[in-house]
This record gives sequence, C-alpha cells and structure tokens, in this order.
Amino acid sequence: MPGFEVFGEEERKQVNDVLESGVLMRYGFDGMRNGHWKAKEFETAFAKRMQSEYCQLVSSGTSALTVALASAGIGAGDEVIIPTFTFVASFESIMQLGAVPVLVDIDDTLTLDPKAVEAAITTKTRCVMPVHMCGSMADLRALKAICDKHNLILLEDACQAIGGTFEGKPLGSYGDLGCFSFDYVKTITCGEGGGIITNKEQFAINADQYQDHGHDHIGRDRGAETHPTLGYNFRISELNAAVGIAQLGKLEHILGIQKKNYLHLRTALSKVEGVTFRSVPKGGEENYSFLNIFLPSQELAEKAHKALGESGIDGCFYWFNNNWHYIRGWEHLRNLNSLGTLPSEIKNQIQDLNTTDFASSDHWMGRTISILIKIGWSDKELEVRKEKLTATLREVLSKIGTR
Ligand SMILES: *Cc1c(COP(=O)(O)O)cnc(C)c1O
Repeated sequence: MPGFEVFGEEERKQVNDVLESGVLMRYGFDGMRNGHWKAKEFETAFAKRMQSEYCQLVSSGTSALTVALASAGIGAGDEVIIPTFTFVASFESIMQLGAVPVLVDIDDTLTLDPKAVEAAITTKTRCVMPVHMCGSMADLRALKAICDKHNLILLEDACQAIGGTFEGKPLGSYGDLGCFSFDYVKTITCGEGGGIITNKEQFAINADQYQDHGHDHIGRDRGAETHPTLGYNFRISELNAAVGIAQLGKLEHILGIQKKNYLHLRTALSKVEGVTFRSVPKGGEENYSFLNIFLPSQELAEKAHKALGESGIDGCFYWFNNNWHYIRGWEHLRNLNSLGTLPSEIKNQIQDLNTTDFASSDHWMGRTISILIKIGWSDKELEVRKEKLTATLREVLSKIGTR
C-alpha cells in the first residue's frame, strides 16, 4: 500500500498553497485563504471518484468509522458485526460509542462469512461491518441481502481496498456507508486522514455535524451556528487534505502498477504446487495491494513465512501470529483492559472472546501469507522477487510427506 512511495512535487505544491496563506483550518477565514479550500476540494473529487453523492473527510480512518456509525444513529448497546480478521480500529470505533462489537468468523475470502453473520444476528444488531482486508472484498451481494432482510446498516471498511470494485461499483459505495483511511501506509495518504462516503443525505448531514462538535455549518459565523445534536472533533486539517488532493491524482497510476506487479507474481506462484489463492467473490475486482496465498497447513505456512524472511524477501505477512490484525493477538480486547470503566452495555453484552470458538477463522488465517505489492520495484527487482518467492516456496513445499 504505497502512497508514500510516490510523495513528490505535487504534494509539496498543494501543501505550499496552504502554507502561503497560513490558514490551516478547513472552516472560516474566508478572506485570508486565497481561495483555497483543500478539504472541500478533496471531498468533491473523492465523492466523484467513488461514484457517491457525499464525502466527509475526517482526521483518520478510525474516526471515519466512528463518525459513520454515529451518523447512522448507532449508540450504546447496539450490536455491530465485524470479522475476526481486521484492524483494531473496527472494535475501537464501535466501543467508542458504547456500542458492542460482535466478532464472527471469516471464510476463504478472508472477510466476513455471510453464514456466520446471519447466525450472529440478535434483536440488538444494528449494523454489519465487512472489512475488505488486504485488497479484496467480502461477498457484498450476500451481506446486502442479509442486511435488507433484517433491516441493518451495511458499513464497508474499505481502508485497505481503495480502488477495488464489486459489481462495477467502487468498494465503499456498495453499502449504506463506506470508510477509508489515508494514514501514512495506505494506498493514498494524507499523512493522517480518513473519509466517509454515502448516498444518504441524512447520514451525510449527520457526519458533517458530528465531526465538528455538532455545528450546523449554516452561515459564515461559527459562533452563531446552532448545534442540532451533540458532536465531537474529528476534523482534518487543510495541510493533510492538501497532501490527499495530490495523492488522489496519482491513484489510477498506483492501481495500474499494483495490478501489473501482482499479476506477474501471481502467474509465477500459480505454478507452485501446494500454493492456492484467496477467493474473490463473484463480481469483485481486487485493488491488488496484496497477493494473498494459502499454504496446505498451518505448519507449512509458518515454515514458509520464516523461510521467506530468511531469504530476504520483505513485505510477507503471517497475520495469524501478528498482534495488529487477528483476534489471537488482541489480549487487551479479550480481557477488556480499559483505562476507565467501560459502559455497562459493553461489559454486559460482549461475547466472551477468550472462549468463543473461532476454529473456522483459525483454519484460514493459520494458512494465509499476504505478500505486499509495492510500486517502486524496477523490472529487475520484480524478477528477483519472483524467483526468490517461487524457489523458497517450492523448497518448503517439497518437504511435504518427507518429514
Ligand atoms: C488503516 C485501517 C483503519 C484505520 O485507519 P487509521 O487512519 O490508521 O486510523 C481501519 N481499518 C482498516 C482495515 C485499516 O487498515
């Protein structure tokens, strides 16, 4: 996920526009800002790129999730279904609102298993939050059918799959709300930042107000604005938004190179016996930010990951033993270690994550290795990577049965 790989003149020029006026805030100071409204400009361009009516920029992908949930009216005691393989932001954003995360199994798409989602629905469920991990998506058609049937909000976390599509629609635009991160390691970056897209006007109005203390943003005097509801401060600064405008201009270029590099490695790995690929739901196209493979067993995946590291290939991730992205590493969540007292709704309703059976998730995650696709590789570097990857995996897999 390489936005930082292409940081250059365009980003500096955008940031300089802001530095020249010194107006670092996205609201007000109309006379001083030399006509620059970077956050607004990014929102308009991003909504268009994502074929959505509305975009709200905020300070991070995590705050995008919080604001999206809040804008849909989700609050204390409401249950939100999320996958076991995700980023910690999923449960953080939910718990921030006093809502209750409900973790369910993933399948061979490495995202929410629709059957597990349906089985987890209770009278308190309000929202299903698929997380399109590592460049590819959940079966959005199946999840949408479940949400329609049970009158639930479908909120897509597309932070790791910007530019991917499902049934021709940009990921993030298929559900009721879609969230993106522009943190430093994402496909396009603002340094720090996040975005929410939606076609629902009321959600857009709610998000606009909630991310800025409930301000109604009517008129030109912030001090005179009313506050229809309570809010918070999740605003983005003009400096960060300015970087994002330049990065958005590079998105198609980034996606094109990712796809080329991904396909080159995939073609080679498909000839290695024992390597299989993550399944992509029918109608979906990945954004090609990661090549995700399965090995025949957990033991072989562990060995392969170790061997890949030893042969000097960077950017190969074994999430099963990684504290960022899988339930096994989240002791703080499983034991509800919080600084202050948690809302009683969370304490009373949350599943016992130390004893819940996630064998199906373990089955897939134990065998998964994700290979990061960069765009700065020269043809030579790509070729060397391909050779080392295939040779290392062949070597590990050739030992099957000879142990
Ligand atoms: C990066 C990420 C987020 C959070 O984004 P931040 O901008 O770092 O807060 C949320 N979900 C997923 C899947 C992510 O990868």
